[in-house]
Amino acid sequence: MRDYTKFYIGGEWVDPAAGATTLDVINPATEDAAGKIALGGKADVDKAVAAAKGAFKSFGRTSRQERVELLGAILGEYVKRQDDIAKAVTEEMGAPSWLSTSAQAAMGAAHFNTAMEILKGYSFEEQRGTTLLAKEPIGVCGFITPWNWPINQIACKVAPALATGCTVVLKPSEVAPFSAYLLTEVLHAAGVPAGVFNMVNGDGPTVGSAISSHPDVDMVSFTGSTRAGVAVAKDAADTVKRVHQELGGKSPNILLDDDGFGEAVSRGVSSVMMNSGQSCNAPTRMFVPKGRMDEAKQVAAQTAEGWAPGDPNGNSRMGPVVSDTQFDKIQDLIQKGIDEGAELVCGGTGRPDGLDKGYYVKPTVFANVSNDMTIAREEIFGPVVSILGYDSLDQAIEEGNDTVYGLAAYVQSTDLDKARDIARQLRAGQVNINGADVDFMAPFGGYKQSGNGREWGDHAFGEFLETKAILGFEAKQAAE
Ligand code: NAD
Repeated sequence: MRDYTKFYIGGEWVDPAAGATTLDVINPATEDAAGKIALGGKADVDKAVAAAKGAFKSFGRTSRQERVELLGAILGEYVKRQDDIAKAVTEEMGAPSWLSTSAQAAMGAAHFNTAMEILKGYSFEEQRGTTLLAKEPIGVCGFITPWNWPINQIACKVAPALATGCTVVLKPSEVAPFSAYLLTEVLHAAGVPAGVFNMVNGDGPTVGSAISSHPDVDMVSFTGSTRAGVAVAKDAADTVKRVHQELGGKSPNILLDDDGFGEAVSRGVSSVMMNSGQSCNAPTRMFVPKGRMDEAKQVAAQTAEGWAPGDPNGNSRMGPVVSDTQFDKIQDLIQKGIDEGAELVCGGTGRPDGLDKGYYVKPTVFANVSNDMTIAREEIFGPVVSILGYDSLDQAIEEGNDTVYGLAAYVQSTDLDKARDIARQLRAGQVNINGADVDFMAPFGGYKQSGNGREWGDHAFGEFLETKAILGFEAKQAAE
């Protein structure tokens, strides 16, 4: 049992303010408590924000070189603890070991490395005539993060914030707080100055809201559901703080009628099954030419079969979903798909055979889905793919864009010119052609109700910078 009941404030592990209760953190593979955290309150947030505000005075004026060295030290400590972090992720949210190691924990290191490399050459100042344009750290940043890619989602905020000279108060997900605790130990070991990074655990409406509404927090960056993202923006409005939001998605994946079709179906299904469907950018709506629906069903079922869920600590490709709440929500949505007339190709409701304990969901594929069905409109956040048939590419693009979300989109074709043309017409912050590799320099974020602002790479720096114009920075040349 992990006892993670302290908070990290002002460079020290401290007890919560009086009256804090504790919360058991459930291992989704066993349904047993794997540890506990304390649930903080407003007093803890006040203390953490005061520490961050105090530390900003000096950290905000550190040199580029000092921060490059700090990020290098963090990366060094992170790599030492990377295996522990991967194990913590598996325990807190059920990702299988291979995924926790190769992606979940590895992405944390990638974000610190990327931020360090960008910082080395980032342009913070620009001279325009006698005016200087200076980009300066915004100040105290409040971070509220979810459970699905827990360490990735924290690192992609913390790394650019520290790179730009900001200070941080983090509230990790109360559902998956273990890896955040280990990251805090990493930052401490790396010598992050006291108060520059602070961590308070708690629930959203209490600690999350205290951060979003705090007058001394200069910006808040949130990743999670649209519902909570809207609450954060409302809480932040009274103090006019900058709000960055990375919210949900219902991403279209448009497959063209060409030679790569079978491979593209398989790749699309696997992208959804990875992390048990718990990725905001999962390509959950697969658009196929109507004439190839039968082939798509057959390949999709065969691919889904290869994603049998099982113990995430073993060799399973897919683990459980994160919690009983998510399990129930996914079951309801699968049932809705059936009730609304979608064709169930494989999977369905109920637990997979032989898995009576743990929040395991059957890899599920629906075919002949229409875009107005609930399963094509709501974010399921489970291993469920919807296949929709199209008559023309214009129809596929139109329906692909017919969603309140706009986080990601996907195009699959051996004709790169056609794929590029479709990519340009899709209304999403990131479009992936033919299963391109993850690009840590590419901005990540959404159009429409998928959010505001961009994370990752140099675009992320902009979220943490204010622009100052100093007029008369250079003396005016005397008139000839
Ligand atoms: P959530 O949005 O409720 O939680 C995310 C974070 O927000 C957590 O740290 C939580 O404590 C905090 N939070 C919740 N309410 C808040 C409030 N009023 N003010 C401030 N902070 C608040 O997400 P969830 O309940 O864990 O999952 C629900 C659904 O959200 C999922 O089914 C999924 O559809 C979606 N989701 C999306 C993402 C994403 O990356 N886009 C991540 C997780 C969940």
